[in-house]
Amino acid sequence: MSIVATLIRGGEVYAPEPLGRVDILTVGTLVAAVGRDLHLPTWAEGETLDASGLLVMPGLVDQHVHFAGGGGEGGFQFRTPELSLSDLTRYGITTAVGLLGTDGTTRSVQGLLAKARQLVHDGLNAWIYTGAYQVPTRTITDTPRNDIVLIDRVIGVGEIAISDHRGSHPSARELAELAGEARTGGLLAGKAGVLHLHVGNGPRRLAPLFEVLEMADVPIDTMVPTHLNRSRPLLNDAVRYGLMGGYVDITTSIAPDTHDVQAVAPHEAVHALRQAGVPLSQISLSTDAGGSAPVFDEKGHLLYLGVGQADTLFRTVVALHGDYGYDWSQALLPATQTPAKILKMPYVGRIAEGVRGDILVTDGHDIVSLVAGGRVVVRSGRVVKTGTFEPGEVGAR
Ligand code: ZN
Repeated sequence: MSIVATLIRGGEVYAPEPLGRVDILTVGTLVAAVGRDLHLPTWAEGETLDASGLLVMPGLVDQHVHFAGGGGEGGFQFRTPELSLSDLTRYGITTAVGLLGTDGTTRSVQGLLAKARQLVHDGLNAWIYTGAYQVPTRTITDTPRNDIVLIDRVIGVGEIAISDHRGSHPSARELAELAGEARTGGLLAGKAGVLHLHVGNGPRRLAPLFEVLEMADVPIDTMVPTHLNRSRPLLNDAVRYGLMGGYVDITTSIAPDTHDVQAVAPHEAVHALRQAGVPLSQISLSTDAGGSAPVFDEKGHLLYLGVGQADTLFRTVVALHGDYGYDWSQALLPATQTPAKILKMPYVGRIAEGVRGDILVTDGHDIVSLVAGGRVVVRSGRVVKTGTFEPGEVGAR
């Protein structure tokens, strides 16, 4: 087997900090060099991507992906399908954390783990949380902590539902215990050890987390609440949580439309948080891709069912730049460096020698090319590497 090398030449690089016009060389799965006038090593199987006139950025980090499928509220016909490699890479995502949601009955953490391993084989930096909406939650071993310590791809607990009629309404004590499980597991295994929390549209909003912080010694960065752009009142709670030092995650698949009039557009939510004084180093974006996205009325009746979309992450970065004038280096933070910090993965979300070879090339609107783990998977707007058994793949090697 030969060693693969990729040279991304002549682009304007945002690492996310601006580096100017430099080349990037990946060798094997890693970035080997960043600088001017780089060349492919003669001993490698090399490929050059001409990025002149284009922007070059780190591959995107998505900490909330239902890659093993999800749902489906409304009946079995609404079960959402599994995602394949190119369902994420065509939209610039190179790191994904998979999770279960409402359905912890016909979907299992075991199945999610197997799916993550398939995606890793196919070239994605894929991980999972153990658990589902319910408390006591779903695990592979006897406890969430043991899952994190003993199972390679498990990095935290989630998504545990709070303030949601579909959850199990955990008490502050139960949440504090779960946070302790996640944190200690993370400490013992050298992993993120986060408790990733789905926040529904119940009137208690983030009150359960404020209660946990009052009654227990849970470090605030252990609990990562998401879907915080579901409504204005919830976003106001997110401001308070962020100003206390917590991480706040905005869902890019949530946006106002005819079915959901309460939602706040993701780029607008990021801007509102920042205007209120929450730094971009605490604001992250995630897609909820592959998950069922039901809209309920105030009585809890199902009005509409959609599916989370992976393209929304990069679109939100573009909107932060285009609509609010954020520099690319700033607009990229919530989709790269900030989630990488939450996940304690210093080797993704940035471009530097020694990090994973995840490089996104764009014209500022669309993904032009993508390198994932040192391999070109999208070239000139076309997917050139699909996952095993994806449509177009007729057999496995
Ligand atoms: Zn959720």
